[in-house]
Amino acid sequence: MQRAKQILVTGGAGFLGSFLCERLLDEGHAVACVDNFFTGNRRNVSQLLDNRSFEIIRHDVTFPLYVEVDEIYNLACPASPVHYQFDPVQTTKTSVHGAINMLGLAKRVRAKILQASTSEVYGDPEIHPQTEDYWGKVNPIGPRSCYDEGKRCAETLFFDYWRQHRVRIKVARIFNTYGPRMRPDDGRVISNFIVQALQNEPITVYGTGQQTRSFCYVDDLIEGLVRMMQTADDVTGPINLGNPVEFTMLELANLVIELTGSRSTIRFMPLPIDDPKQRQPDIGTAVRELNWKPKTALRDGLAKTITYFEGLASSGHLRAVAAE
Ligand code: NAD
Ligand code: UDP
Repeated sequence: MQRAKQILVTGGAGFLGSFLCERLLDEGHAVACVDNFFTGNRRNVSQLLDNRSFEIIRHDVTFPLYVEVDEIYNLACPASPVHYQFDPVQTTKTSVHGAINMLGLAKRVRAKILQASTSEVYGDPEIHPQTEDYWGKVNPIGPRSCYDEGKRCAETLFFDYWRQHRVRIKVARIFNTYGPRMRPDDGRVISNFIVQALQNEPITVYGTGQQTRSFCYVDDLIEGLVRMMQTADDVTGPINLGNPVEFTMLELANLVIELTGSRSTIRFMPLPIDDPKQRQPDIGTAVRELNWKPKTALRDGLAKTITYFEGLASSGHLRAVAAE
């Protein structure tokens, strides 16, 4: 049994953050969840509120935070293109000022800190699958840049704090992850398709639907993050975390229609600017360094996610949660 730690999870009321808080509490740690509730929701952590080892701090990470902790998971940042493009200046501030504030905190209290980075640092990649040594092809001035360049700058800050101040860092590059607790209005492809299918509305496939993504189920991803935090101090990453099985968006749409038994048809819509054409993680480093690989096939993860959204639909929350 490992020693109980004080752990800070920024973005802890979001989709991934809420599962991470749950997992860390289950392991016997004390968890402080910091969130400004921009895309996160108290409902995601409502089942944890009675746990005396859990606390919520309403706080925006673009401002300094003074707490005593052993470990920090820095997840605060809207992840869906719809939400991160809503206030792009705030998105960049969240990644960059947020990283500076959390790294400053880690330095002061000598905490270990893990950054939730992203496959978006590879942009619209020219090599396939993406390995961690690929520097990426990112448009610095487009509508996705606030997120992509913000996350890239955060990685720079992490490695500078490591080189300059010996802060113990871990940089995880997360590829598309999905599961229960995504918001119905999240805007990312899996929640969009499921919500549309459950209402027998047209499935909105952007472009020709031939662009690809590789989808990781949330439980697998959380296991990877926790394993990464537990690595020796010389393991800084970056490490890709994701499921290497690749699908086109058209294949995904048809699978969601099949699994929901929906009468939805497919509606082709314009492809958003700078939408990456393909994405697949090379997870060789994660296999080697973390002894980790995802276990959940897309079909199985989708079934669990569909069950979650069906629950929202039957309690009349499919639209209500979206409007919160
Ligand atoms: P999410 O939008 O559900 O969660 C983000 C959380 O951060 C929300 O609770 C939001 O309210 C909070 N937040 C945003 N700005 C904040 C601020 N300034 N101060 C405090 N809290 C703030 O998204 P998610 O999918 O759970 O993503 C979590 C992290 O993982 C993000 O950093 C994201 O970039 C990264 N990531 C996620 C994926 C994925 O597919 N889910 C892929 C790559 C990277
Ligand atoms: N997409 C789509 N229909 C939707 C939402 C997204 O076809 O309703 C496509 C989008 O253009 C992209 C892929 O699905 O090619 C994944 O989009 P998402 O926003 O989930 O993640 P990201 O582009 O950041 O990987």
